[in-house]
Amino acid sequence: MNKKYIGAHVSAAGGVENAPVNAHKIGATAFALFTKNQRQWKAKPLTDENIKKFKENCEKYGYKAGQILPHDSYLINLGHPEKEALQKSRDAFLDEMQRCEQLGIDRLNFHPGSHLNKISEKECLATIANSINLALEQTKGVTAVIENTAGQGTNLGFSFYQIKEIIDQVEDKNRVGVCIDTCHAYSAGYDILNNFEDVFREFEEVIGFDYLKGMHLNDSKKELASKVDRHNSMGEGSLGWEPFRMIMKDSRFDGIPLILETPDDQRWAEEIKTLKNMQE
Ligand SMILES: [Zn+2]
Ligand SMILES: [Zn+2]
Repeated sequence: MNKKYIGAHVSAAGGVENAPVNAHKIGATAFALFTKNQRQWKAKPLTDENIKKFKENCEKYGYKAGQILPHDSYLINLGHPEKEALQKSRDAFLDEMQRCEQLGIDRLNFHPGSHLNKISEKECLATIANSINLALEQTKGVTAVIENTAGQGTNLGFSFYQIKEIIDQVEDKNRVGVCIDTCHAYSAGYDILNNFEDVFREFEEVIGFDYLKGMHLNDSKKELASKVDRHNSMGEGSLGWEPFRMIMKDSRFDGIPLILETPDDQRWAEEIKTLKNMQE
């Protein structure tokens, strides 16, 4: 009964090829990584050596494409209201998609974007959809995976309806997906602690589980609907273990990367083990 892929967002320091090694060390069956420094715009291209070693290590430790969910740079805003800044983000996003292509990774997770109080929500969502369309036109085999947000600041994507509005405007529906972050969902007002079934029924009705390409498993430091994005270690925050027990026993979350982004990396091995045991 091991249909769940469970891991963490591991370090790729020293080269992307180290990520699968780091994931293996903590007993992960999935992992996330940054394929470049997430706080810088420019990055050196991946070398043939990086690519070869990454693929070798994934093979060695048994990670297939569907078990890997890279995260893009925090600087990128695909809904940016200003032309030049938007172009910069689109270029950087394309570069990230191409890195995934090179590494044989089939999905890229990103935060949809922010309107910065300069354009309407509707206009921002349409801009994000266009940004996705442009990236998909120029790449092959990589799905753009929209992460739900806590709704902090002017970030969009905190409601399932906003995510649906983006997906509706994406031309290639086969290469757009969703990643639900449990901390962000709770902070945005989705009560997965007390109303788990209702929240995911709404998810199915509005977006659909066919689009679910990954999950971020995080407890939250903040309360329901706080709109503040602060992850906590599993069981230590306002969610506790119960929503995660529900996820582990629910076949709708099979076969996709389930990624911890909890703050204490020393606990990851234990958190993964506890989650794995909850499947039985
Ligand atoms: Zn994220
Ligand atoms: Zn996340």
